Amino acid sequence: MLRFFADDHLGKLARWLRLLGYDTLHFPAIADELLAARAAAESRIVLTRDSSLARRFPDIEVMRLADEDPFRQLAAVVREFHLDCERALFTRCMVCNSLLVDVEKETCREEVPPEAFARCHRFARCSGCGKLYWDGTHYLRMTARIAQLKEELPGIE
Ligand SMILES: [Zn+2]
Repeated sequence: MLRFFADDHLGKLARWLRLLGYDTLHFPAIADELLAARAAAESRIVLTRDSSLARRFPDIEVMRLADEDPFRQLAAVVREFHLDCERALFTRCMVCNSLLVDVEKETCREEVPPEAFARCHRFARCSGCGKLYWDGTHYLRMTARIAQLKEELPGIE
């Protein structure tokens, strides 16, 4: 699977890519030299709005995003690299980029609002920061947007 490094101001795009399961680093205010060095070392594609980055760091693969809207940025990245929008959906923490681990529903009772606990089926915990995810309304809203993305981009698996 491709790995990414989202430059400054692309935090929301980083979250969307993590939602799709793509390993995406993002550090606000990281120096360009550090970003480029790490991207080169880890073979990450750098996503940026900075038109000079590719010129200044010719060793790394850079995609420049013209759009300011995070979801349209996502659509552009999905189209450019033919990303899979389903295979690894909800396998990675949107906050810290670590992998999620499915957990037994019953062990989450104390952490989830009662209505959500009654209604939801899938529970997963981040192996990095411990954040708990479940298939609630937020999840459904996001999967609906991903489905919409696929409709807008025929040819995407
Ligand atoms: Zn996490």
